[in-house]
Amino acid sequence: MKLYSTNNKSLEVSFRDAVFNSLPVDNGLYMPQSIPQLDAAFIKNIQQYSLQEIGVKVAHALIGDAIPFDDLKKIVYDAINFDAPVKFLDADLAVLELFHGPSFAFKDFGARFMSRVMGYFSSADDQLLDVLVATSGDTGGAVALGFLGVAGTRVTILYPKGKVSKVQEEQLTTNGQNIRAIEVDGTFDDCQDLVKRAFNDAELKTSLRLTSANSINIARLIPQTFYYFWAYAQLKSQGVEEGVFTVPSGNFGNIGAGLLAYKMGLPVKHFVAGTNVNDTVPRYLLSGEYEPKPSVQTLANAMDVGNPSNWVRIQDMFANSLSDLNQLISSYTYTDQETQEGMQELYDKYGYIACPHTAIAFKAAQAYKSHNQGNFASIFLSTAHPCKFPDAIDKELFVKVKSPKGVDSLGSEKKQTVEMPVDYGLFKEYLLAHN
Ligand SMILES: *Cc1c(COP(=O)(O)O)cnc(C)c1O
Repeated sequence: MKLYSTNNKSLEVSFRDAVFNSLPVDNGLYMPQSIPQLDAAFIKNIQQYSLQEIGVKVAHALIGDAIPFDDLKKIVYDAINFDAPVKFLDADLAVLELFHGPSFAFKDFGARFMSRVMGYFSSADDQLLDVLVATSGDTGGAVALGFLGVAGTRVTILYPKGKVSKVQEEQLTTNGQNIRAIEVDGTFDDCQDLVKRAFNDAELKTSLRLTSANSINIARLIPQTFYYFWAYAQLKSQGVEEGVFTVPSGNFGNIGAGLLAYKMGLPVKHFVAGTNVNDTVPRYLLSGEYEPKPSVQTLANAMDVGNPSNWVRIQDMFANSLSDLNQLISSYTYTDQETQEGMQELYDKYGYIACPHTAIAFKAAQAYKSHNQGNFASIFLSTAHPCKFPDAIDKELFVKVKSPKGVDSLGSEKKQTVEMPVDYGLFKEYLLAHN
């Protein structure tokens, strides 16, 4: 697999370099030089395969010989050791549940695969790989649990004090082993600044081998294509030939993976992006003007993104053609009140309790259906388990949430965290002193 930068198509980097760099120096995003096509027979018979078998097939098509087939197979089976079931709520409405991994959010797919790829590429090095990550909640948990116990790696997570939910904080701070959590007395932006300064610190880089677990890493995008194929396999086994995928979107990595799957040959009728009031992409699709705005805080806070970092990847796949994008993608935007109505309606109609992000996808699926004729199945993606968002869900509804196994025992584990003010000198000292 060779990759270019969306800002420089003549650049040619290996998969390994793209994984460790995360970003090209020209601030573009890495994209595969060519998108492979899966063979028609595989797509036609896809319902015969498991999620893991599909993952191996798709990853091998994308990555090629950058990781030998047997090693890649091990990585996929080890990373994706949980299901992503499609559940029908109605004859033509289904939910694809992506929260059955250890952090109860879809980011487990990306984080677990990326951690194992980094561990694989580092296994011959004697120096530890130091992964630094700033989190506002979901990313940190997925990264912490994704890297937990991966040999040759050590993760340091910075999170803003008092600004993550209880379950999220427990997932960051109760791991031990190769995972360290730093509770910063500041905002998410402060955490991100500390991490950025560390990456730009030449002195630090002479003692530590630093890398980021950034959400735009190509190794996080690849495993997110697996579940689109797997959803299609499950639809086919129910006699459904084509569907509309509705994706709750923030940084647009999830839907970007769906579009990559489509480009690889996955039959999809249409994609729908649901956003909260951070509506930069919906506005772009209407006007053709890309005008990012500062992010606004909402109930669906994992989607509070004013300048979605994966959007250029999507534009790249469609050669910046607004009309091609509009032919395949629709988008709808929801306020917090509408998000709450979506959660209530899902429960009243189907007895289904969803997190706020998922409720936005449900609303967008309904909106697309009401604007478009024909018989088609709508599949909306459920990106997190509702137990992670107690403050965003109506109290009467929240008491009915059944926590998945593992959540209750989290609270009894010892919290291990280092408290720190927003002070780069102290952060650097910590990294060097605890090496
Ligand atoms: C990260 C996240 C999203 C947004 O996904 P993107 O790939 O950034 O568009 C949606 N829902 C949940 C629960 C998330 O954690």
